[in-house]
Amino acid sequence: MDKWWGNQGKRERPHEGLDLYLYRDREKRILQLDEKTRIPVLYDGVVVRVMDDFIGNSVMVEHHLPESQSLKFCTIYGHTDPPSSLDVGRIVKAGDILASLARPKKSQRNIPPHLHISVGWVINKISYDHLDWESMATSNPLKWVDPLQVISRRSI
Ligand SMILES: [Zn+2]
Repeated sequence: MDKWWGNQGKRERPHEGLDLYLYRDREKRILQLDEKTRIPVLYDGVVVRVMDDFIGNSVMVEHHLPESQSLKFCTIYGHTDPPSSLDVGRIVKAGDILASLARPKKSQRNIPPHLHISVGWVINKISYDHLDWESMATSNPLKWVDPLQVISRRSI
């Protein structure tokens, strides 16, 4: 709740995930993500929604757990620039590139390019067709989990 990017003050509600902004390369240099950064999907799944967010687009992928047909969870990759060919219904395999990172708009000059990752269990009957960040906050179709609990170092 305490801080948005830049000088936008406090958030209206808690941050729903993890923002990735810097990374360390093999030579141990610290580098910034930028619009050339390609975003791989974390697990096998199906694209269920591509929606606007305040910088670019968010791509939502639904994953089924092999051990239980009833349990499913979603990963969301925010502030991205997916190709127009990335349609809802696309089957993806872990590591497939979903999108590149979006460049913040001119009015967002104090916000660096960054990848937002949300991970949530599907707990309510959900229609992905009209889902957006506002409805996810108000109707709570997902129970958010800390992405750091499910993303291993190896997978990112
Ligand atoms: Zn974020």
